[in-house]
Amino acid sequence: MPDDLHPTLNAAAVLAELKNLLGAAAVISDAADCARYLTGARYGAGSALAVVRPADTEQVAQLAHYCASQQIKLVVQGANTGLVAASTPDASGHFLVLSTERLNRRIEIDVVNRSVEVDAGVTLHDLNQALEAHGLCFPVDLGANPSIGGMIAANTGGARLIKYGDVRANLLGLEAVLLHPPGTILDLRTALRKNNTGPDLKQLLVGTSGAYGIITRAVLQVHRLPQQTATALVVPRDQAAVLALLQIFEQDCGEFLSAFEGISGQAMAAVLRHVPAMTNPFAPDQLPEYCILIELDSTMSPQKSGLHLEALLNQLLEAHFGELITNALVGRGQDLWRIRHAISESLRSEGRIIAFDISMPRSSLVAFRQRAISLVETRYPHLQVMDFGHWADGGSHFNLVWPHTADAAYDAAVVSELRDAIYDMVVRDYHGSFSAEHGVGPYNQAYYHRYTSEAAQQVAGNIQNMLDPAHLFGLTWFGKQKTS
Ligand SMILES: Cc1cc2nc3c(=O)[nH]c(=O)nc-3n(C[C@H](O)[C@H](O)[C@H](O)COP(=O)(O)OP(=O)(O)OC[C@H]3O[C@@H](n4cnc5c(N)ncnc54)[C@H](O)[C@@H]3O)c2cc1C
Repeated sequence: MPDDLHPTLNAAAVLAELKNLLGAAAVISDAADCARYLTGARYGAGSALAVVRPADTEQVAQLAHYCASQQIKLVVQGANTGLVAASTPDASGHFLVLSTERLNRRIEIDVVNRSVEVDAGVTLHDLNQALEAHGLCFPVDLGANPSIGGMIAANTGGARLIKYGDVRANLLGLEAVLLHPPGTILDLRTALRKNNTGPDLKQLLVGTSGAYGIITRAVLQVHRLPQQTATALVVPRDQAAVLALLQIFEQDCGEFLSAFEGISGQAMAAVLRHVPAMTNPFAPDQLPEYCILIELDSTMSPQKSGLHLEALLNQLLEAHFGELITNALVGRGQDLWRIRHAISESLRSEGRIIAFDISMPRSSLVAFRQRAISLVETRYPHLQVMDFGHWADGGSHFNLVWPHTADAAYDAAVVSELRDAIYDMVVRDYHGSFSAEHGVGPYNQAYYHRYTSEAAQQVAGNIQNMLDPAHLFGLTWFGKQKTS
């Protein structure tokens, strides 16, 4: 515990005051108990003054007020599944971690309005369990179980974005606590789909990695649970065929197309190597070089509507077999999604992941992939490309692995040079994004400054200065690059 927090403060006094404010049960300072809050999903441990777990919005406001008055830094943490090092403290030991895990009591469903008001610490899994009883779901889908507050702060995308949109598209309202004026409760909770009564302030909290405020509650639009789903794993003739198929499926399946996910053979092979319960879906054939997971869903039941998605899927696959498709498996949807969602974690078992969470106009995906693979093969032959991606929304997880077994030891300078080359290609040549889904955070801070216009940084920094003049909040700075 550091003693150099503030000239008039010491750590023991801070802990005593926090316990006084929130109750002893809300404050964790024992090193062993703190440990799980200090290590991120994919990065090393930091150090914290303490972990605080407020139980309601008023406690969050009191805490914000106290931190602002004492100049104590604060990082908000939901389920800690974020991938850009923004949910855990740095090594200084000066941060308090504000965990939202006790803000998890409220799930108020309005079935008629198709909306739900939910505390920020409720997890996606718990929300969907509660919604399922009403024939509803929150369909932002991914291979982790994040909190709703964290999903808003990261604007989670996921695998079904093409049909259901990201979190932003489904956010109707929220409540947040601000650091300035200290402890302000900004109540923007509405369950309205239309509301043009001034600036849409809730958007300041979306995708900004917890830098502008602490989200305490949200109102989400939810969707009717599909009554039928059809899934296929399709081997395209080549990469150009992937985009051709995407256009055909959008045209011929319209709103039924819910996912169109690319998976490289190398990524699938990693899953099969590391998750013993999963088997090669193409057996007895070898894994293909590349395949696409295509899903259709509909709220119309086959019995009532006469619509049979699996028949529609088969019909389309047959129509393009040979010309664009060389192999296709229909069915086993749950098994295929398990494989898809296991990719991220399986790659970790292969070696050090060098992840690129990028996006670009879909029309550029083939050209980018070809150039990027060629760059890796030529300049970094010891790296393995194990990419997968959300072709339908232009997203690509162009993930590389530095194998544990490689002759050359992991070299941060080489990785940094490689990152610059790939991101320059994505942003400058293909007008894409260096962070499609995961946000900025310390991992992407330098790239934010490299690729964001001066004018945009100025505006974002002005907003951050207004909401957090002492820069106590989080680890992401959206203003111009700090010089010291
Ligand atoms: C296996 C795996 C697969 C993933 N797949 C995807 C994917 O397909 N698509 C995708 O978009 N992401 C994906 N992610 C990333 C991650 O799950 C999301 O970013 C997630 O939404 C973060 O939510 P969380 O509750 O874990 O937030 P945390 O990790 O705890 O925090 C993330 C950020 O949000 C801030 N924050 C958290 N709660 C609040 C709050 N209440 N108020 C203000 N700020 C807050 C934190 O300070 C931090 O900056 C994946 C992660 C893993 C581990």
